[in-house]
Amino acid sequence: MAWVLWQLRQLYLWLTSKKRLPPPDAAGIWGDIFDNIYRMQKRHEKERRRLQSVIRRGQETTAALRDAVVLVDINGSLSWWNQSAEMLLGLQPIDQGHPLVNFIRHPSFIAYFEAADYDKPLDLPSPRNESKQLQYQVNRFGQGERLVVVRDISQIYKLEQTRKDFVANVSHELRTPLTVLRGYVETLAMVPDLKPVMVRAFEQMQQQSDRMNVLINDLLTLSKLETEDTEKNQQQVQLRPMLEIIKSDAQALSDSGQHNISINCDGVLSLRGNEKELHSAFSNLVFNAVKYSAAGTNVKLDISYDSTAVVFSVKDNGDGIDPIHLPRLTERFYRVDNNSRTSSAGGTGLGLAIVKHILLRHDAHLTIASKPGKGSTFSCVFPRDRLQVLQQS
Ligand code: ADP
Repeated sequence: MAWVLWQLRQLYLWLTSKKRLPPPDAAGIWGDIFDNIYRMQKRHEKERRRLQSVIRRGQETTAALRDAVVLVDINGSLSWWNQSAEMLLGLQPIDQGHPLVNFIRHPSFIAYFEAADYDKPLDLPSPRNESKQLQYQVNRFGQGERLVVVRDISQIYKLEQTRKDFVANVSHELRTPLTVLRGYVETLAMVPDLKPVMVRAFEQMQQQSDRMNVLINDLLTLSKLETEDTEKNQQQVQLRPMLEIIKSDAQALSDSGQHNISINCDGVLSLRGNEKELHSAFSNLVFNAVKYSAAGTNVKLDISYDSTAVVFSVKDNGDGIDPIHLPRLTERFYRVDNNSRTSSAGGTGLGLAIVKHILLRHDAHLTIASKPGKGSTFSCVFPRDRLQVLQQS
């Protein structure tokens, strides 16, 4: 008994010793116990060192990152960040535990952070230096924790800005000379006794300068959509009267109304948005339906809504579109067939790009369903809270 107690004391002293001592000497079963514990200790030590080196490596990697990485706990408070976060956001060690929104105070960031819809990143000027542009992307992990990655996108932003300015300036500068040329072509085309060859030449010049005019106007529209404030001129827009105007314009376009255009819009409905922009987006879709379907066919304009969305759709029984083209249809200048009658129909390939931009500015998106030979349905899907039902049908 005394021997067992003595060995227990040895074990206790060894385990509680602050120094890393080898196991006490003992014979028999106690020797085995000490050796086994010692081996276990060594294994744990090795594992601890391995984990430590993994953590160090992780820290070195995040320190080498040029992007700021910030860990935010379940309460939205700062729990860890890397070196770049100190440079980009000005975080200091004493900020630990404080809410992140105390350091990034921009209202758009606070709304983004609290809305908890992190599908898309958010671009904003830097809180430390207005001339820098930062991109924030929040990712969830663990149980309610969040990882915020912040990138300096000033360079890309500047390039994008230069591109926008260039397109806007070129389109604007081309307008004046084109107006002069169109004026002269029109005047010269009216000169009496022109040779037939000249008449044809002037007709072609007029057609092409008109096309160029439409192109420039579309480019200007697109660059305005890219630069203007989204919230500008947003109001409740009555849908039925707008669709009636678009219908009669489309009928004029379809050569003395050869298409059967119908409107299905029950009740008195209004949609919050920019009237000019909504008119432009909807009319682009309706004019396309008329342009790309044969005379005598039906074009149906339809407004429907449920608890989550409001959908404006345009359905035609026209040529339809091969599925391979669908993903690229809203790209600028993308046309399914550059040489077909669509070219003579005066299209620029910018119409759907304009529609897409307008819808983006209204928190909406475009969906396209089409089958070659069967027709197409283009739908604009808006969030339900933009709709006001002024009178039920
Ligand atoms: P465009 O000025 O050429 O009409 P859009 O951007 O409006 O340019 O449309 C891009 C292309 O999508 C068109 O060239 C056409 O091939 C195709 N498209 C658009 N709407 C329809 C439709 N309703 N039916 C068939 N094809 C369509």
